[in-house]
Amino acid sequence: MESFDPVRALGAYLTGEWVENLRESTLPLSEKGVDQWDEKSRALEKLKQEVVVCKACTLYQQAKQAVFADGTPYTPLVFVGEAPGEEEDNQGLPFVGRAGKLLTETLSKFGVSRSEVYICNILKHRPPGNRTPTEEETIACTPFLRKQLEIIQPKLIVALGNSAAKYLLSTEEGITRTRGREHKSILDFPVFPTFHPAAVLRNYPAYYPLFEADIHQALMRVGLCRK
Ligand code: URA
Repeated sequence: MESFDPVRALGAYLTGEWVENLRESTLPLSEKGVDQWDEKSRALEKLKQEVVVCKACTLYQQAKQAVFADGTPYTPLVFVGEAPGEEEDNQGLPFVGRAGKLLTETLSKFGVSRSEVYICNILKHRPPGNRTPTEEETIACTPFLRKQLEIIQPKLIVALGNSAAKYLLSTEEGITRTRGREHKSILDFPVFPTFHPAAVLRNYPAYYPLFEADIHQALMRVGLCRK
């Protein structure tokens, strides 16, 4: 802390500088001319507003709301899932249903919270009945995902499940063949596929240890793992 300087304080009092200083320190950030958000947050917020009004496919008609992302853009690690489910559609946040809870719990086993990574999906609106996204919907929606990743510039992307892995790797190979290792992707960032947590829930005893090991490996790779 700066030490008290009586001469400077008297000078500030006589010139009225202290009133200015007091006024400055009590002003809201925005009125001080200090940006509350930096460039990444601002660019993502702008993109989110485009997603909210997007009508490039018909999914917006039945969905309650768009689900853009959760977490922080200041992270080396991004998780990409398939599309919002019912709970995500209700809350407007990705991976907050049962599958999301499994992902969150698995991250916390390694001392990492959701707020330290960025979580989003291939599609930003829920497909009716949680059906698999069509090719047209993927084509219509993925420019948003690409832009998100371009803004964030992650070190690694974890593709959760087949839809995300197939799109990001541009492959027809299934997740059981691609999971557990890093691949070159269609973007500038490497992709590490693993099982979708909903598939893990369906096949828990067989898949969970592999899923957990994959998450561990991805966290280690980007230096986020704490346990
Ligand atoms: N499944 C997904 O792929 N994404 C979500 O956000 C939730 C469930």
